Amino acid sequence: MIRQIAVMSGKGGAGKTSVTAALLKLLPEVVAVDGDVNASNLPILLTLQKLSESSYYAMDVAHIDTESCTRCGRCAEICAFNAIDLDEQGNYSVNDECEGCAACAWVCPEKCISMVPHCSGTKYLSQLENGFLLHADLIPGEDNSGKLIASIRKQARTVATEKSLDLILIDGPPGTSCQAISSLTGVDMVLAVLEESLSGLSDYRRLAKLMESFRIPHLVLINKTGIDPELGKRIETVVAENGGEIVARIPFDMEIPRSLSRRETLLDLPAYRPVIENLCEKLFPHS
Ligand code: SF4
Ligand code: SF4
Repeated sequence: MIRQIAVMSGKGGAGKTSVTAALLKLLPEVVAVDGDVNASNLPILLTLQKLSESSYYAMDVAHIDTESCTRCGRCAEICAFNAIDLDEQGNYSVNDECEGCAACAWVCPEKCISMVPHCSGTKYLSQLENGFLLHADLIPGEDNSGKLIASIRKQARTVATEKSLDLILIDGPPGTSCQAISSLTGVDMVLAVLEESLSGLSDYRRLAKLMESFRIPHLVLINKTGIDPELGKRIETVVAENGGEIVARIPFDMEIPRSLSRRETLLDLPAYRPVIENLCEKLFPHS
């Protein structure tokens, strides 16, 4: 059976990806997913070799064959998204607002509107030293990031099955949007990375609600601790109220961002290697 674990945080900059990268380096075998398709950072921190890439088509959009168009204007009349433009020469064309409903194609008397696949991004399968990484780049301004995450997660399950690997570790996107939901559905456990700050606490509350609604148990790593001990105590109370278990703490330490800029992970810092090893044992007791 394939076990899926997601590393999530309610906000960006909490340290989620650096923790995930350290865990990935420690695991003997794993299929990893970078769920942050708007700003994929795991490929920067890990040593990898791209095996394949493919275009991602989230939906079909309308395309007008201007040669056959008689300029009747019915397509523009029916389009509820103002996605059909008329230029000064009287030519109709489809703009970026097209939602792919196909109403225009149905009403066109000349049948000169076809629905064509629209590329929203690129998906990659890369080899890691100890497994595989599925990652993607969404084209800036494109929608459908949740669908793209679902697509690379599906591919990750296929790879895990084919290679007989039983663990998928997902580096989720920050926040609690549809991208986060797409990264969470069906996982067995979440590691919530929470920065010890007021905004970190507020964002954790939202994330905890999301995990509760999906009935997903969660462990908690508190990052950047030691600045405000009073706030630290409040966070402990809130985590307990939300059914979480604090399993690791990492203090605020400028050496950590310095090491990241050298493409090192927390495993390369002797002070934090035991923290990651203990965390790994908690998350993956039989790995
Ligand atoms: S497919 Fe729908 S949204 Fe797109 S141009 Fe046609 S009517 Fe408008
Ligand atoms: S409905 Fe068809 S024929 Fe009429 S303007 Fe649109 S594309 Fe041209």
